[in-house]
Amino acid sequence: MSQPHLRLLFSREHIAERVQQLAAAINRDYPDGEILLVGVLKGSFLLVADLARALGRPCLIDFVRLASYGNETSSSGLVEIRKDLELPIRDRDVLIVEDIVDTGLTLEVLYRHLLQGRPRSLKVCALLDKRCHRQAAIEADYVGIRLEEGFVVGYGLDYQERYRHLPEIYLLEPGA
Ligand code: 5GP
Repeated sequence: MSQPHLRLLFSREHIAERVQQLAAAINRDYPDGEILLVGVLKGSFLLVADLARALGRPCLIDFVRLASYGNETSSSGLVEIRKDLELPIRDRDVLIVEDIVDTGLTLEVLYRHLLQGRPRSLKVCALLDKRCHRQAAIEADYVGIRLEEGFVVGYGLDYQERYRHLPEIYLLEPGA
């Protein structure tokens, strides 16, 4: 792709509002007590930070890193765990925090892997959901924004490691 063009899709205010709504829904569903947030690196680093503060309750935080093989903007379905959890999850309420669920193949591998740690509960929170691309039979329990088509960057999401720092979410359009 030559120099890509970024088209604003979601402002920082819109994202902040959706994160607050996610936190409110999570707080309604979970009984008192700690939730263990498992952020999926690198894309979820901003969401984990904002969600943890919006929840306003005791949380434990851990991260995993997965590598999925594919071309620049689509996944092949081959997923490898590059960095595993550092905290034990047995008998804990665990919430996977994902930037985006696309085919669902990455999430499916992670979900099955975490189940082996025998958490008390295991749910998924995703800021973005491209449901029409789904190939795996898995859904997020909490979804901030549903998307139809396109490859997005910003608010943690990258294209070739760029744009993660942007506070808004943009659609990446091929350059001229
Ligand atoms: P999956 O297809 O397995 O659901 O998605 C795996 C990963 O692909 C996501 O966690 C994310 O890192 C990346 N991905 C999927 N769609 C997009 C997108 O629109 N933009 C960016 N930057 N990454 C994406």
